Amino acid sequence: MEVDVAIIGAGPAGAAAGLALGGRARVLLIDRVAEPIPRIGESLIPATRRLLRDLGVLKAFEAESHPPYLGNQLVWGGDWAETDFLKDPDGTGWHVDRVRFETFLRRAAGARGCRIIAPARLEAIAARGSGGWDIAVTDGQDRLEIEARVVIDATGRASTVAKRLGAARRNSDRLTARWIRGLTSGETARTAGFSTVESEAGGWWYTAPLAQGARVLTFHTDTDLMNGTETVSADGLIARAMRCPAMAALMEETGFQADSVGEIWTTAANTARTDPLAEADPAMKSGWLAVGDAGLSLDPLSSRGLFNALYTGVSGGMTAHRMLAGDAGAVADHIAGLERITEDYERHLALMYAAETRWPDHPFWQRRSATA
Ligand SMILES: Cc1cc2nc3c(=O)[nH]c(=O)nc-3n(C[C@H](O)[C@H](O)[C@H](O)COP(=O)(O)OP(=O)(O)OC[C@H]3O[C@@H](n4cnc5c(N)ncnc54)[C@H](O)[C@@H]3O)c2cc1C
Repeated sequence: MEVDVAIIGAGPAGAAAGLALGGRARVLLIDRVAEPIPRIGESLIPATRRLLRDLGVLKAFEAESHPPYLGNQLVWGGDWAETDFLKDPDGTGWHVDRVRFETFLRRAAGARGCRIIAPARLEAIAARGSGGWDIAVTDGQDRLEIEARVVIDATGRASTVAKRLGAARRNSDRLTARWIRGLTSGETARTAGFSTVESEAGGWWYTAPLAQGARVLTFHTDTDLMNGTETVSADGLIARAMRCPAMAALMEETGFQADSVGEIWTTAANTARTDPLAEADPAMKSGWLAVGDAGLSLDPLSSRGLFNALYTGVSGGMTAHRMLAGDAGAVADHIAGLERITEDYERHLALMYAAETRWPDHPFWQRRSATA
């Protein structure tokens, strides 16, 4: 198969790149899962409205009726603060159902002319002498060979393409998240539509309402500090959260409890950055780019992961379009754009962590104050 752009990964970033490019080039989207699967990450900030409008999918997205995300309640540094999006010029955000959201984006990219192959995972990638890439993907049985002029890595934190090409991936910290989905007896006027964050001695908590009376509860700390028996079961996680005043009040108010399955998940949540120009082989330095988490993974405290994935997906799609037209400066501009986002993000994150000073002796906060 011959295409202009092969996008590996059809999550939010890959689908956004496909939407930006669809109809302007021959685009192939490849994903290792046949259909989107449940994932953590549901708070979609109001500014996303502008991106979805620019992509021409806002009305269709609104028709999906994801519940509104009205704001944040933050218990941090001994203070309690509420940010209400009713005062935000972009209006309210959404607490999206990730499976429905990603299915919507994939379908929208397909409707715009992108071809989608899933399930298929990247098996091999090599630079062609004449420019462009030879790619092989497999669904476990059959192998498909693809010639692509440009490759976009949208594989999320796995950053599979970047790693295969030898690009450096720099981790800034070791933040990890352990989370459960529980059930409530119903949200109240105080809790409905709000995401809540609360710091504690060993890290911080996040909870947000999901569809059908469900709620996500997540504890964040560093990988080496996620020890002890408490955080290995859903009931243990809830018991620890109950020692934090805001979490305890919220769980009591909503009747939150583990569901009957009691499943618990762990996922990396650290800041990480791919440096595409640090490859060993000069032949691998051009003709590809990374978008979304594959390019820059954010600490969830920023609540910007999905926005960043969609934004860099769109700008990555536009960059690929410039590359196809022979613009030699396109990749450097994309990388410079990621640099600017990183600087802004790191400054805000450092300020946020520096605002919590109650546990100066705990390694989790010591490490953050050193960075700040
Ligand atoms: C604990 C936690 C909480 C979060 N909460 C929020 C939140 O509330 N709000 C928010 O905005 N963000 C949140 N995020 C961040 C957000 O989930 C991510 O930033 C976002 O999912 C990134 O999108 P992406 O498309 O870059 O990557 P992903 O969503 O990871 O998608 C990558 C895609 O690539 C596919 N893939 C991977 N490897 C291959 C391969 N080898 N071949 C083919 N396909 C492949 C995968 O199947 C997947 O479809 C959170 C993150 C964490 C860790």
